[in-house]
Amino acid sequence: MPTIIAIDGPSASGKGTIAKKLAAHFDYAHLDTGLLYRAVGMAVIRAGQDPSDAEAAEREAKALDAAKALTLSEESALRTDQASVAASKVAVIPGVRAALLKFQKDFCQTPPNGKAGAVLDGRDIGTVIAPDAKVKIFVTASAEARAERRFKELQERGENVTYAAVLADMKERDARDAKRTIAPTKPAPDAVILDTTTIDAEQSFEAAAEIAGKKLATDE
Ligand code: C5P
Repeated sequence: MPTIIAIDGPSASGKGTIAKKLAAHFDYAHLDTGLLYRAVGMAVIRAGQDPSDAEAAEREAKALDAAKALTLSEESALRTDQASVAASKVAVIPGVRAALLKFQKDFCQTPPNGKAGAVLDGRDIGTVIAPDAKVKIFVTASAEARAERRFKELQERGENVTYAAVLADMKERDARDAKRTIAPTKPAPDAVILDTTTIDAEQSFEAAAEIAGKKLATDE
């Protein structure tokens, strides 16, 4: 069985960067599962529908094939705020989650390119997608610190946003993700909590690599 590292946490907690670096560090495959929800949300918008429309969202989730899902990190439109909001709306729809489940489970069972393991980041990796993952880390940070990071990122990309609007959007999205009945954002009982409020990306990665390294060494 491939070794699975599950990285969960709210938006802009630093989980994406941590997951990417851990995958490179251990030579594992990496899957940013948020991109799947973003792709479905944007596909619904492009089809002229509302992301909260369950039927339309389910249709787009079912239409997302595995080959396409593996290339989503190249699509910059999926990193916009519009895509984040649309993603969190389609993510509450059970049929959407069910349609995306198999691809994620297959990724864990058979990581691409013959890799010996996989790092997945999202909201429900340790709880739903890979409950047996050897390593589970729940990455968190204060809403203000996360909004600040997201604001800088959007500004650098030339998006015309204010910090206050980003913070408000983030709180709204956090609430939607945490309160939904299906696969809400929450740490698995056996997850290690990593708070990145006062540390930078490199320090966050180092802390995560230490947690993962220790856990993998004790399980061998
Ligand atoms: O991680 P990211 O911010 O890209 O995720 C976008 C949205 O997709 C989240 O706000 C959440 O609603 C949804 N999501 C999810 N489950 C995952 C990953 C993302 O519900 N495993």
